[in-house]
Amino acid sequence: MKKTQTGKQARKINKLWWLLGVLSLLWLISCRPQDRKGSPEPVLQPELLQKFETMKNLGLRQEKAHDFLKLITSVGSRLTGSPEADRAVELVYNLMTELGFDRVWTEPVNVRRWVRGPAEEAVARSLKLGTQSLKICALGNSLGTPADGLEAGVVEVRSFEELASMKDIIPGRIVFYNAPMDRTVAEPFTAYGQVAGFRVRGASEAARYGARAVLVRSITFRLDDNPHTGLMEYDDRLPKIPAAAISTADAELLHNWLQVDPELKIWFRTNCRQEEPVTSANVIGQLTGSEFPEEIILVGGHLDSWDLSPGAHDNAAGCAVALEVLRLIKEAGLKPRRTVRAVLFMDEEFGGTGGRAYAASENRKQEKHLVAIEQDRGGAAPVGLAFSLESLIATLKPLKTHLEPLGINWVRIGGGGVDIAPLREKGTILGSLIPESQRYFDFHHSSLDVPEAVHPRELELQAVILAMVIYFLAEKGV
Ligand SMILES: [Zn+2]
Repeated sequence: MKKTQTGKQARKINKLWWLLGVLSLLWLISCRPQDRKGSPEPVLQPELLQKFETMKNLGLRQEKAHDFLKLITSVGSRLTGSPEADRAVELVYNLMTELGFDRVWTEPVNVRRWVRGPAEEAVARSLKLGTQSLKICALGNSLGTPADGLEAGVVEVRSFEELASMKDIIPGRIVFYNAPMDRTVAEPFTAYGQVAGFRVRGASEAARYGARAVLVRSITFRLDDNPHTGLMEYDDRLPKIPAAAISTADAELLHNWLQVDPELKIWFRTNCRQEEPVTSANVIGQLTGSEFPEEIILVGGHLDSWDLSPGAHDNAAGCAVALEVLRLIKEAGLKPRRTVRAVLFMDEEFGGTGGRAYAASENRKQEKHLVAIEQDRGGAAPVGLAFSLESLIATLKPLKTHLEPLGINWVRIGGGGVDIAPLREKGTILGSLIPESQRYFDFHHSSLDVPEAVHPRELELQAVILAMVIYFLAEKGV
């Protein structure tokens, strides 16, 4: 039989129990809530919250994103291949250098060069109603009309089915696509997608039946006098005919005139032409990762715009936000473990060659893009974030309570953009910041897309949110 323990031994054991108790208590106190079973709200380390607070205060106090937007738009419109687009490349390269990014460089992109020429003219002539000038603009990539314009009768349609049903009367006429955006669709990008096909494919579809030209109702919910341009593409197997957009107010007028006089004629002249392709550039700047420099979190926008305005929402806003994300991280004195890179892509609007050139570049060989985020939905106040991978959304969960006051109501599956899409096949997770978009198509591709249409504070909120998300991902990885 064992001897009973001595008083000395008992004290020793008591001490051990006491020590164990203290250690358990310390563990419970230090344990973060997300480690405890059943706790719904994960929290972030106070040091990280302090960094977030610093970036938020810097951003909202200084509103530099809008200054960057004004600088980019100061060159005017930046149509792919234009001298203004080249000027913007130079300007942004210099800005990134001035901001002290660790590395700044450009990569070449071969782009189409389409030139609008002098302003377009259009007139409706009716024996019953008289004459009326119409506001039109050539669609991007379209051929011009003959030098003295073209005149023809008009066939109005609202769908490709209706077009096919009218095929017997189409030869020699102008097809007028008058499909408005569906006002009952609450999400504007969905309503846009429903009618964009008339702009993109409408000319070739009409040429299939012998049309001479097409006029396409501008894609906007607004009823106004501003035609909205955008890219159209020809089907090489079909005759190529001129294509132009008509303002929504004049689309309504033309519709009403055609009710009274179906025999009316339209004369119009567009002066656009295709020139030889040129070499342009993507502009790239980065804060090089301190531990994993080859692992990259990318934030981007597109530097090119349409030619009717300085393209403030589309997409100087996205470029400005990308620049401001890096500035905020740097200005807050943070050195992310992974590389944070801003890419201002060339040629989103005229075919996405910049995005494809970036992904295909030899320079990508040694790099691993973990996440790429593009913001190409305008500069309005943010409402949500979207990512292509569910597990990344779970990774970002601890940020939820800190992003909500800045406007982020949800983080869901989705995300992407024309410029970053080619990275998907390399296994990159794609993401987008989603701003409020009910007014976006008021401005989109029209002369109304000016810097004053973007609110500095709303734009800055986008940058602050992305700075937090991107810094978090650059520290944590995916
Ligand atoms: Zn865009």
